Amino acid sequence: MKAQPTASHFVNGRYVEDTAGTPMDVIYPATGEVIAQLHEATPAIIEEAIIAAKAAQKEWAKYSGTERGRILRRTADIMRERNHDLSVLETYDTGKPYQETSVADATSGADALEFFGGLAASLTGEHIQLSGGDWAYTVREPLGLCVGIGAWNYPTQIACWKGAPALACGNAVIFKPSETTPLCALKVAEILIEAGLPAGLYNVVQGMGAVGGALVTDPRVEKVSLTGSVPTGKKVYAAAAADMKHATMELGGKSPMVVFDDANIEDAVSGAILGNFYSSGQVCSNGTRVFVQKGIKEAFLKRLTERLSTAIIGDPMDEATNFGPMVSENQLNIVLGYVEKGQAEGARLVCGGTRIEQPGSWITPAVFADVTDDMAIAREEIFGPVMSVLDFDTEEEVVARANDTEFGLAAGVYTSDLTRAHRMAAGFEAGTCFINSYNDAPVEVPFGGVKASGIGRENSKAAIEHYSQLKSVYVRMGETEAPF
Ligand code: NAD
Repeated sequence: MKAQPTASHFVNGRYVEDTAGTPMDVIYPATGEVIAQLHEATPAIIEEAIIAAKAAQKEWAKYSGTERGRILRRTADIMRERNHDLSVLETYDTGKPYQETSVADATSGADALEFFGGLAASLTGEHIQLSGGDWAYTVREPLGLCVGIGAWNYPTQIACWKGAPALACGNAVIFKPSETTPLCALKVAEILIEAGLPAGLYNVVQGMGAVGGALVTDPRVEKVSLTGSVPTGKKVYAAAAADMKHATMELGGKSPMVVFDDANIEDAVSGAILGNFYSSGQVCSNGTRVFVQKGIKEAFLKRLTERLSTAIIGDPMDEATNFGPMVSENQLNIVLGYVEKGQAEGARLVCGGTRIEQPGSWITPAVFADVTDDMAIAREEIFGPVMSVLDFDTEEEVVARANDTEFGLAAGVYTSDLTRAHRMAAGFEAGTCFINSYNDAPVEVPFGGVKASGIGRENSKAAIEHYSQLKSVYVRMGETEAPF
């Protein structure tokens, strides 16, 4: 089989198999063919991973930040050297075109390993002077065992975005990839070991939601970081809360992108394309509600459809291809359902939304115009290549409408008015805002949502707060005074 890994799981520094686990087929979305067969983790595999991780973490916590960082940076170097192979695997796992995976997946994972590897040596507590010569200091300690649970859209990146800060802070990790894209995280685990990471610190166990559930509810786990949908996030957050575990929730969105009359139309169209059709629309922060001011609506739609007609849809391994299939038949059917719903609700289908009749899970990129705020295609996360274009008149009106959603992951504005751009950013209820840009996610900048889109932040120095905790130590220099 094209992409069969050595074994299903990576535990305690090596590949392990337990054929008693339920079989899982891995399907290449571009052709529908089975490219690997894995087994879900059994309770025995989960137990082995937890025991190995707990033991390894105790030793890892004694390493200096410099030593930990060196291993992470070495891992980043190896990932960059193997970018081609890792990108091909990412394309097999997800169906995303190689044109994308070769610049956005292993490279982004390597950025996280390099960034947090660089930060590791500078993670410290502080000294606090108190009255009378007394003082206190804080110690930045790891949390312990961190469980990461991934979505299927960026399997290599998610494995690294969770693993790198956790390891930099001295934690151990058990990562459960999405059952749809189980292959890439195994490679990350393998390369970490090759770079010198002690066995047991980064484990990968496969399975459906129940395997994630078993990890989240285990009392030996100190932290849970999920990338997934809001309904799953609510379940996992509640399960973590039952044991007072730390939690980071990177969830879904229905983000607004606002285009004012004075915007550079070409740039705004580029932003709308990036924010709706990159990775076939399977990006959590996508700006799927595109509010266009009435004066430029027709010009915007004209340029958008012209440029969409030049999309190259085809073999994802061909470097010219820039639009691939949906990750699975299931996701394709969800998206087709929304295209039908949009039409039934009275939105105007300007282009696309048609299933491409060939093996694999293919659909053409869809644009709806004349969408109103109450339509399902404007309210619900579709997680596919379906853009909704909505009209608006005034700035005040559009901010209120942009924020009228349970989600709050991202928001964008295109305008040439500098002060208006910043007023919009201040008014958006979103974790990340873009001005004359869309969907940038460099590792130096915090990433995460507000409202139902999640809690906590990934990337940047902010992530350190979510993978470590402070211990305060008081030091009295004089006598201890008591009232009696
Ligand atoms: P999903 O919620 O169906 O699954 C996510 C992960 O959770 C999978 O690994 C799944 O097996 C696991 N899971 C399911 N039920 C569980 C349970 N009860 N306990 C523990 N784990 C459980 O999401 P998906 O379909 O894989 O991914 C798409 C979603 O992810 C979209 O909503 C998208 O917006 C979101 N997403 C968010 C971000 C972000 O950073 N905010 C990034 C990528 C994707």
